[in-house]
Amino acid sequence: MIEQLDQNIVAKLPAEIVEHIELLERVRKDFVANVSHELRTPLTVVLGYLESLLNQAQYDDTLPKDLLNKMHQQSLRMQNIIEDLLLLSRIESNKPIPVSDQLVDINHLLIIIQQSSEPLVIEKQQQLTITIDKVLKIKGNRDELHSLFSNLIFNAIKYTPAKGQIDIRWLVRDNRAIFEVQDTGIGIAENHIPRLTERFYRVDKSRSRESGGTGLGLAIVKHILIRHHGQLEIESKEEQGSTFRCVFPLGFS
Ligand code: ADP
Repeated sequence: MIEQLDQNIVAKLPAEIVEHIELLERVRKDFVANVSHELRTPLTVVLGYLESLLNQAQYDDTLPKDLLNKMHQQSLRMQNIIEDLLLLSRIESNKPIPVSDQLVDINHLLIIIQQSSEPLVIEKQQQLTITIDKVLKIKGNRDELHSLFSNLIFNAIKYTPAKGQIDIRWLVRDNRAIFEVQDTGIGIAENHIPRLTERFYRVDKSRSRESGGTGLGLAIVKHILIRHHGQLEIESKEEQGSTFRCVFPLGFS
């Protein structure tokens, strides 16, 4: 929270108040991390039972297959939310990752994400292109960068209707490395853009839930970018599409 406050306001607050806010913020973060962790184990057990019942339902008509399927889907959704909350707790310290961290092959990463998105892209009869300007590795954490790029790519697929176009670009411009996802999707009204990276902020709650999101994707994107010295730029027009751009300074890369 303290990093979300206007730093000009924080500078004017007495030191004891800032300390108190920081303490409360630590308590909140610990609480979220502990609750998520505690929920993970029982949910894994429930999912295990549901999966074995779903297997049995293939041969046993007395079992309510539709109901079990719905329970399974909702439990998987809950599992995704818990995993995203745990990831967010790990990364939200906003501390930049150590520069000595591994060199990540972005080209390879993008191809892996493209492969995993293929079934959804085919189902929605969309066109997805990848343009790679230059083979360029950047210093960072591979898993975090995977999560960053896949959140943005899967959002573009989710929020673009059937037969739409998604263009992914990895470019080098003016001493900066740029990852860009442009879609011809539903777009976002201007007033929503500043709030998109807040946890659980959604433009259209029912639509986003239907599309299976956790509401945490862009909050995760924001924190991973901070840790990699990057910045997020969003351009969007309702009913016309959006561009989400991550800009990394090349001095760091
Ligand atoms: P969700 O899990 O709901 O997708 P995100 O944090 O990833 O959560 O995104 C927050 C909200 O931003 C979404 O609910 C959606 O309203 C909007 N959004 C994100 N990406 C796009 C996009 N490419 N096109 C249109 N709206 C988007």
